[in-house]
Amino acid sequence: MKITNVTAHCLTQKLDGNNRFDSAFSTFTERAACLVEIETDTGLIGWGECLGPNKVNAAIVEAMTPALIGRDPLDIEPIWFDLYSAWRDQGQRGVTMTAQSGIDIALWDIAGKHFGVPVYRLLGGAHRTSVPAYATGGFRPRDKDRLERLVEETAAYMADGFTATKIKIGFGVDEDEAVIRAVRDAIGDDAELMIDANHGYDAIEAIELGRRIADCRIGWFEEPVVPEQLNAYRRVREGQPIPVAGGETWHGRLAHRQAIEADAIDILQPDVAGCGGITEMRKIIAHAETSGIRVVPHVWGTGVNVAASLHMLATIPPQPGRHSSRDPWLEFDQTPHAYRMAVLQDPITQTAGRVAVPDKPGLGVEIDRHVLEEFRA
Ligand code: CA
Repeated sequence: MKITNVTAHCLTQKLDGNNRFDSAFSTFTERAACLVEIETDTGLIGWGECLGPNKVNAAIVEAMTPALIGRDPLDIEPIWFDLYSAWRDQGQRGVTMTAQSGIDIALWDIAGKHFGVPVYRLLGGAHRTSVPAYATGGFRPRDKDRLERLVEETAAYMADGFTATKIKIGFGVDEDEAVIRAVRDAIGDDAELMIDANHGYDAIEAIELGRRIADCRIGWFEEPVVPEQLNAYRRVREGQPIPVAGGETWHGRLAHRQAIEADAIDILQPDVAGCGGITEMRKIIAHAETSGIRVVPHVWGTGVNVAASLHMLATIPPQPGRHSSRDPWLEFDQTPHAYRMAVLQDPITQTAGRVAVPDKPGLGVEIDRHVLEEFRA
């Protein structure tokens, strides 16, 4: 089998006026995605997705394509090594790695289809066939008071069957504390609640907030500070009681290793579409397991990323082994996004807060090409 063609599909949906929303440092004015399609001389096609800016990812995928044409797509490890080596001098992290991630996911999709098994089977089999999902939302809205909107929104997730949700903070310690307390009241004591500052705080603010909301039973405090400052991460861990999570911007296994070795985190959050794909993420998972660090993948993108993430989630070993093991969470984005699941012929959905791992060959999803055309950037 040989690779004959590689196509990066850039998609977008513009968000106008009241549909726009804010994290601590950015405003979402569009929903952008870059899907990677790899064709072979056998007719088998694989799909992947790149985290981050769609047109920059697409340009790098295009630049990497000559190194892929004519190669056997089953040579996944050698291809990964060769791409990484070729781009090392200006690569290692950032958009070269997110672009390589999309290529790698597509190769695993082809391999699964070639052998007639789901990707998790190629990875050695599944510890579980479904995972609990938490609803990601709770950004700062444009159409309503933030506290009022987040109470409404998170209560609606619970009514939909979710048992866990994550909200965005990093808008000021006083305001965030009031919002967190109101959301905890709205969703009830039994629901899981996580907070994500999108690195909108410094260590002093993060420690202050974490101490103030110690009684709110927060599952984790995500990206409290900027990801380059591993020492600040460690100070937040040491200075307040909530477990600290991060990893969506630490691309590559070396960046994740540095965070683990710096004692920066309690929970590691690699994104399969950003950290180097399935090939790199399984090494990150192995290193985290070796170090006693919990892995809860970051997931932000279309159904292609969600599917790839579900295969990774199936393979994360339960830690520790015991009678009733704790399954890792799927991050399930619930914010406005017109084609997130529409790109799949069969959308991935949750039932009673759980999502099944796809069990058809490869990633186990088929793309709706009409939707690619409808949202082409
Ligand atoms: Ca995040």
